[in-house]
Amino acid sequence: MRLKNKTALVTAAGQGIGRASALALAAEGAQVVATDVDAALLKKAYEGVDNVTTAVLDVTDKAAIGRVIGGMPRIDVLFNCAGIVNNGSILQATDEEWEFAFNLNVRAQFWAIQAALPRMLEAGGGSIINMSSVCGSLKGLPSRFIYGATKAAVVGLTKSVAADYVRQGIRCNCIAPGTVDTPSLAGRINSYADPVQARKDFVARQPMGRLAQPEEIAPIIVYLGSDESVFATGQVFAVDGGMMI
Ligand code: NAD
Repeated sequence: MRLKNKTALVTAAGQGIGRASALALAAEGAQVVATDVDAALLKKAYEGVDNVTTAVLDVTDKAAIGRVIGGMPRIDVLFNCAGIVNNGSILQATDEEWEFAFNLNVRAQFWAIQAALPRMLEAGGGSIINMSSVCGSLKGLPSRFIYGATKAAVVGLTKSVAADYVRQGIRCNCIAPGTVDTPSLAGRINSYADPVQARKDFVARQPMGRLAQPEEIAPIIVYLGSDESVFATGQVFAVDGGMMI
């Protein structure tokens, strides 16, 4: 039980990487608050699961973040997972898309950390894990202008928090997954004129010749949330199936 006596909050835990991570944290003994904007997804994902309580949370609502985190007895691990992918180049990007993506992918992390950090400091420590991506943080990918910009911003946010609180027991890291077979990816694939070819193209950019499963990303969240990673902070952990070789 690598997370016994720890309490964790996961955003966007209704499906995909967030769900797999919340389940993995709970299986390692953490008390998990699994949150998502979609109540039905939460119900389906966690009915009858031990160690998990759920809360509907739209991470673009600052007051709601404060309410959910403020209502927790303590918070040792914060996994800011929520994010959205935008397609398109800089010439296709609109101000509205930029604003929406930065609010969801970056500002929501700023708000959640701002809400959780005083509690962690009071308790003498905590582990914050932010969702970045290989795209933007480590590698430029075609047609991901806004997405890449947001995920690169997550790295700066992560390192800044890590630097400010490194002497106070707070660790702040981010993860950079490669392409993961999640419902949102399936939705993106199905939006192409030729979904079969689109899936082949996503697979082709993965050197291992396959996509990741969400359960293959979750172990890095357990590691970073647990005391096993006690000497790691301010880093970008790539779990990318070899994209950065
Ligand atoms: P997913 O579609 O499987 O799940 C996304 C979840 O986010 C859904 O449950 C949805 O209800 C929730 N959500 C949407 N808007 C929300 C909001 N405003 N507040 C709270 N929850 C909200 O997604 P996924 O593919 O697992 O992606 C999760 C994170 O991982 C994102 O930040 C994404 O950028 C990142 N990521 C994904 C991949 C990939 O290939 N799937 C790769 C790298 C990084």
